[in-house]
Amino acid sequence: MKLTSLLVSATAAITLATGAFAEGTVGIAMPTKSSARWISDGNSMVKQFEAAGYSADLQYAEDDIPNQLAQIENMITTGVDVLVIAAIDGTTLSNALENAHFAGIKVIAYDRLIRDSAYVDYYATFDNFKVGVQQASSLVTGLKEGFGDAPYNVELFGGSPDDNNAYFFYNGAMSVLQPLIDDGSINIVSGQQGMDTVGTLRWDGAVAQARMDNLLSAHYTDKVLHGVLSPYDGLSIGILSSLKGVSYGSGDLKMPIVSGQDAEVPSVKSMLAGEQYSTVFKDTRELARVTVGMVRAVLEGGTPEINNTETYDNGVKVIPSYLLEPVSVDISNWEETLIGSGYYTEDQIK
Ligand code: BGC
Repeated sequence: MKLTSLLVSATAAITLATGAFAEGTVGIAMPTKSSARWISDGNSMVKQFEAAGYSADLQYAEDDIPNQLAQIENMITTGVDVLVIAAIDGTTLSNALENAHFAGIKVIAYDRLIRDSAYVDYYATFDNFKVGVQQASSLVTGLKEGFGDAPYNVELFGGSPDDNNAYFFYNGAMSVLQPLIDDGSINIVSGQQGMDTVGTLRWDGAVAQARMDNLLSAHYTDKVLHGVLSPYDGLSIGILSSLKGVSYGSGDLKMPIVSGQDAEVPSVKSMLAGEQYSTVFKDTRELARVTVGMVRAVLEGGTPEINNTETYDNGVKVIPSYLLEPVSVDISNWEETLIGSGYYTEDQIK
């Protein structure tokens, strides 16, 4: 074989193996750096996009809607080839996405569905209903473990009402809890139910803490609280501060069972300290992998990996989606799940 043909076949082999020679710029709009998961999402994507040969423009908007809109408009103007967006408010991007469409830019909704737009091509996320089921199931397990037989006094918290995921988490959780509320095993002492009542705007831990303070002073001066459904670790930490403020977790007053999501470091530490009961691990490296695959398919004319074409109707159409599996984590499996998978190092937790 001549040297040139050897080189050609070697290059072809490398191209096949690494997918090199990919070209294009990906605009990545993430909601905020205030929660570690989005930092990890952004970093994993940049790393994987660059390894695949693309350039990435990663922007965070600190939970400010006009800021995110301006970042996306700017990406459209500078001519990115694809947009990957984890929206702050899933309903405010319609005009920008229309502009993206007319500029020939494809759009992938990342983790959170973008609503009210025909110009969302794919959606990469986790099974969000299942996240809620896992949160409520672990709450119920913890209640039995910590407080014996029913009935239990419980309060409910929801995520941000402008985030489509929040409804999936809540509905998933209520699919487990509502039958127990109906048969009297669980008593929502405040009576507060439904996303319009228990939602927490912008997933703000301080807002959850203030609501927990109010619930405790209004309804629990002569009753003991046994559990709290919390949909996100940042809220769980606020809720736990409020509980500790009225001496839960010391003396005879056991810490209520509190759920969570994202396996953030402060929450893993809190679990190890016997405070937060559980969380849900969503491997952001995997979500990045699926998203990079979608972008590749969109830019190179392949078929993206899709495993759901029914669940995520954004108000205009059902968005073809890929749903990853969430993992429920508590003290019994945190180490193998979070350290064993290489997501965290031992040093980060201890
Ligand atoms: C994400 C969760 C996260 C929450 C708050 C949701 O859209 O799916 O993983 O806990 O936003 O950042």
